[in-house]
Amino acid sequence: NAKENGSSQYQFYDAERDQTSIEQIILENDLELAIQADQMRLVYQPKVDIRTGEVIGLEALVRWQHPLLGVISPGQFIPVAEKSGLIVGLEKWVLRTACTQVKKWLTEGRQVRPVAVNISQIHLMKPDIFDSIMELLTELALDPELLELEITESAMMHNEEHVIRILNDLRKAGISVSMDDFGTGYSSLSYLHSLPIGCLKIDRSFVSNITSDSDSRAIAEMIISMARQIGLAIVAEGVETEAQVALLKELQCYNAQGFYYSKPLTPDEVSVHLPVIFEDEVS
Ligand code: C2E
Ligand code: MG
Ligand code: MG
Ligand code: MG
Repeated sequence: NAKENGSSQYQFYDAERDQTSIEQIILENDLELAIQADQMRLVYQPKVDIRTGEVIGLEALVRWQHPLLGVISPGQFIPVAEKSGLIVGLEKWVLRTACTQVKKWLTEGRQVRPVAVNISQIHLMKPDIFDSIMELLTELALDPELLELEITESAMMHNEEHVIRILNDLRKAGISVSMDDFGTGYSSLSYLHSLPIGCLKIDRSFVSNITSDSDSRAIAEMIISMARQIGLAIVAEGVETEAQVALLKELQCYNAQGFYYSKPLTPDEVSVHLPVIFEDEVS
C-alpha cells in the first residue's frame, strides 16, 4: 500500500482515516434502526422569487438526530445509506413525511407551495418508483402538483432509457422534476433537451463564485441563457450575498435558494412563511 502511494516509503498510522472508518461502521449499523427509532427529521429550505421575496417552493432536507453523535448532516450519512441500499427506505420515509407535512399545512388552511424531495440514483433505478409514489399520493389524497423531485445531473446520466421513461410518467402525472447540482456532471446538450424536466438548479459551486471569478460567472450566464432558450425554469443554489442576488438579477435568473434568504427551517418555522388563507378548519 505504501508503495502504491509512491510519495512515501512508509505507511504511517492514519488516525483520521481510522476515525472515518469507525464512524462509517457505527453509522451503517445505526442507520438501519434510525427510522424506526424516530431519529430522522426533515427541514425545509425556501426557494424564493428574488424580485418579490415570495416563497415559490420548499426543498425537504433530511437530518439525523443521532442519540450519541448529535445532528448528522446528509453529506455524512447519505453516502453510507447509498452503499448499504438503505437509501431507498430512507427516501420513502422522506417522501411520506414531506407529503404528510404538506397535507397538514393544507388542512390548516395555509397557502402551500410545492415541496421538493431529493431522489438518489439507486432509488430512481427501482422499477416500482413511479407506482409507489403514486400510491402514496393517492393514499394521502395529495395533489401531485405539490410534489417535486430533485435528481442530480449525474444520477440522470445512467440508463438513459429508463430515466426518460420514469420522467415521462412523472410529468404526465403532474409531478415536476428538477435537475439538481447542474453543472457538476457532464450531460450533453442533446440529452438535456431530450429529458422531460422542468427546472435546472445551478450548483452552489458556481453561484458562490459568480461575483469573484469570471469563469464561474461565464458558466452561470451560459446555463441561464441555455435554460431560457429550451424553456426550463432555473434556480440558483447556495445564494449567500446581496452581490450574488444583484448579479443573478442582471443575468435574469429570478429564482434562488440559499442562506441569504433562509437556512433550512423546521416545519413550525416554515409555517410562518405560509399565510393562512382560510380559517374554517382550524380550531
Ligand atoms: P442539495 O440537494 O444540493 O441541497 C442543498 C444543500 O445546500 C443543503 O445541504 C443546504 O442546506 C445547503 N445550502 C443551502 N443554501 C446554502 C447556502 O447558502 N450556503 C451553503 N454553504 N449551503 C447551502 P444539506 O441539507 O446538508 O444537504 C446536502 C445534500 O444532501 C443535498 O444537496 C442532497 O444532495 C443530499 N440530501 C439531503 N436530503 C436528501 C434525501 O432525502 N435524499 C437524498 N438522496 N439526498 C439528500
Ligand atoms: Mg436538492
Ligand atoms: Mg442541489
Ligand atoms: Mg448542490
